[in-house]
Amino acid sequence: MKKTIFKDLLIFDGSEFFKGTVVSENGLVTSVSRNCHDSSDCDDCEVISGNYILTPGMINLHTHIPMTLFKGVSEDLPLEKWLERIFPLEAKFISPEMVHICGMWGMAELLRSGVTSFADMYFHEDFIGNAAKEINIKAVLGEGVINFPAPSGRSPEQTIEHTVELAEKHRNDPLISVAAAPHSPYLTDELYLLKLKEISDKYSIPFHIHMAESQFEVTNYRNTHGKDEFERFEELGLLCDRFIGAHCVNLTDRELEIMARHKVTVAHCPSSNMKLGSGIARVAEMLKMGINVAVATDGSASNNNLNLLEEAELAAKLQKVSKKDPTVFKSVEALKSVTANPGKPLGKDRGVIKAGAPADLVLIKTDSYEISPVYDPASALLYSSGHSDIKAVFVNGKKVVENGRILTIDEDNLRKEFSKFVERVRKEI
Ligand SMILES: [Zn+2]
Repeated sequence: MKKTIFKDLLIFDGSEFFKGTVVSENGLVTSVSRNCHDSSDCDDCEVISGNYILTPGMINLHTHIPMTLFKGVSEDLPLEKWLERIFPLEAKFISPEMVHICGMWGMAELLRSGVTSFADMYFHEDFIGNAAKEINIKAVLGEGVINFPAPSGRSPEQTIEHTVELAEKHRNDPLISVAAAPHSPYLTDELYLLKLKEISDKYSIPFHIHMAESQFEVTNYRNTHGKDEFERFEELGLLCDRFIGAHCVNLTDRELEIMARHKVTVAHCPSSNMKLGSGIARVAEMLKMGINVAVATDGSASNNNLNLLEEAELAAKLQKVSKKDPTVFKSVEALKSVTANPGKPLGKDRGVIKAGAPADLVLIKTDSYEISPVYDPASALLYSSGHSDIKAVFVNGKKVVENGRILTIDEDNLRKEFSKFVERVRKEI
């Protein structure tokens, strides 16, 4: 792979902005310097300079990627009613082919918005892995474990066994990795949670689960178990720095302390929480307590898009308005929540630009009507930039997106295949 020099640009390395030069070669970032790089030794390489910001590839830490197919089919309903509408559609439509095609549709949307890694939870995840390899995006596969047979036809025991197979199969894959993925405290029995924690420890992979999403769920859990979700999870020994709790909306002070103590990561999904009326997660307090907060989109059936930067913008504004305090969740913190923070539970140097890290990079133009002028680059990226400002996206050094086009697949063919599924759903609803 050709050596690329991102010369004398504004760089966000996952924690701060500075003017500098980044060199990538053979899929890795090989150097980061805070000065202009001397390119005299560069005979056969690409040099990129000009009005750009270079950021790490963003990480969407909680998705159900094939659910792009169900975008807009279950609207204006609370979580429990929303699920009642979604489950029969899933039972009818989920297949290896569906997750491959509809998953890839979602991945194309992710890549176009600067996302180079996503942590998924769904069924037939191996086929999502195939699609991810085809389009060249990094996927963390989470085969969802629920108490009853899954839409993939597997019992919980079989799904757990399958998680082990996936973890073995993708041990050293440059694009695909695996997470243990129990659905939630209310759909996954403790017996299964404990087995999945063992697998998560054995393979050093994330433990990805929905937590404390709706008030109804939390109240029910407390009535059944006599304590709150994080209290019980601490007792069971399920919490650690590879724990990803999606949502974490309705929590007590005591639970926040437990989360901080065990260094868990929150995958905060504000659009989904707002649309389903689940509530506002206590992100400002979490940040103050040092809890690792990532912002994620959730699935397209409840968001209804996968634009991660827009999600970070919403997350920041939601904290400011709910706290009536504009100083909370600053722009640079919001940018960290879609880069370095979600990278932590995944390991592998994701979400940062540093020597030795994979060259997952996003090149963003700074001279459009929308983003210019750039006095404060963090706020410009968060509040002013749009899709069209993304010039290029690189995954392991390979250019995957250029000027909005996906370079790795036949987009017309994908559109054709996806629309066949859409027509079938249209007849059903
Ligand atoms: Zn979810």
